Amino acid sequence: MPKITGVETFDVRFPTSKSLDGSDAMNQDPDYSGAYLRINTDAGVHGDSLVFTIGRGNEVQLKAIEILSEKIVGINTSEALQNIGEIARQLSGDSQLRWLGPDYGVFHMGAGGVLNALWDLFAKQRNVPLWKLLSDLSPQAIVNAIDFRYITDAITKQEALDILYRQADYKSDNEAKLRKNGVPAYTTSPGWLGYTDEKMLKLTQEAMDQGFKLLKYKCGKSLEDDQRRLRKVRELVGPDFAIAIDANQVWDVNDAITWINQLKEFKLTWVEEPTSPTDVVGHAKIAAGIAPTRVATGEMAGSRIIFKQLLQSKGFSVMQIDATRVAGVNENLANILMAAKFGVPVCPHAGGVGLCEMVQHLAMFDAVAVTGHHPGRVVEFVDHLHEHFVVPTDIQNGNYMAPLSPGAGAEIHQASIDEFKFPSGTYWKNGA
Ligand SMILES: [Mg+2]
Repeated sequence: MPKITGVETFDVRFPTSKSLDGSDAMNQDPDYSGAYLRINTDAGVHGDSLVFTIGRGNEVQLKAIEILSEKIVGINTSEALQNIGEIARQLSGDSQLRWLGPDYGVFHMGAGGVLNALWDLFAKQRNVPLWKLLSDLSPQAIVNAIDFRYITDAITKQEALDILYRQADYKSDNEAKLRKNGVPAYTTSPGWLGYTDEKMLKLTQEAMDQGFKLLKYKCGKSLEDDQRRLRKVRELVGPDFAIAIDANQVWDVNDAITWINQLKEFKLTWVEEPTSPTDVVGHAKIAAGIAPTRVATGEMAGSRIIFKQLLQSKGFSVMQIDATRVAGVNENLANILMAAKFGVPVCPHAGGVGLCEMVQHLAMFDAVAVTGHHPGRVVEFVDHLHEHFVVPTDIQNGNYMAPLSPGAGAEIHQASIDEFKFPSGTYWKNGA
């Protein structure tokens, strides 16, 4: 019986704060980092994943992963996939650790890291990419992976099964289309707040030339700056090109409504993270106050329970799941199915380090097995740090092309780990 023999962890930090890549109104100097883990087995195959952080505190995230990892050592890997729902509940429901949550925060994200590494292991064992593994699972197996506790007032197991069975006849067509065209991407690369107008416009033109159909700009530091930047962008891209903005939670609720309504002339596709990610009622008020401009959020929604409330209260029109914010693939399956029931498109959050590589699999599963291909889905892409990944993203003409290599996407080259391991890697040791 093949078994999990142990879990290695690495504190990996990339010095992105030097170039202001990733800068926005809230996060002014991020060092894109991964609390990285590798599940080892006695069969040779390993499962890798990471929890994304932006620098300081990565060691705390790593400690949570180490504590939770003890629960999976010794597990029989040939039975783990069919028991993944139970494993997920054990990771999230530890009778003492859950005090430090529950269902959100460092331990919840740690559980996600362990689960995502297990899914990477499952995919590699079967020699398929994660999107394909998920798409080929039976509806019953998908539902068994989900913890429905606290969400049955929004979606029942039977409703989730019905959604999956409805798409079953279309899965092979959907997969063929995915393999040919991928799924549409949008990019935030031109829009970081720390960039000059010249750099922003140059990158905007480049992104349009690359085929992206939606561009997103950071905002929320100064209304005058936002108006000036958006006016310049509008002039360049023309009246009909889709542009969105992202405030990264800087506003109070009433300020958000006032501010956003002063940007109406720029015809924004959505306004992202206008206020605190846990303020569901506030999001509902903002959504009503800025309509028909749409609210998007979710990259810091800590659990399926927050997503449930955002759906029920009409707090957003665009669900932005993140691969490492919640408890892994399992909880994102719940989020994707809830969104399908409420008719809200899932437009995953990415950027960071590894988030593009990971979350694309979930969007592709959605496109094959849940909601099919539709114009409401667009997946964030940011062109940083992909060279460190064993299976980097493949963007062609503004689309994420489906990865065909086995795994869930988060595996980093060992040479990159050795260079950027904090603080002992060669980059940090040599006086960075
Ligand atoms: Mg964002």
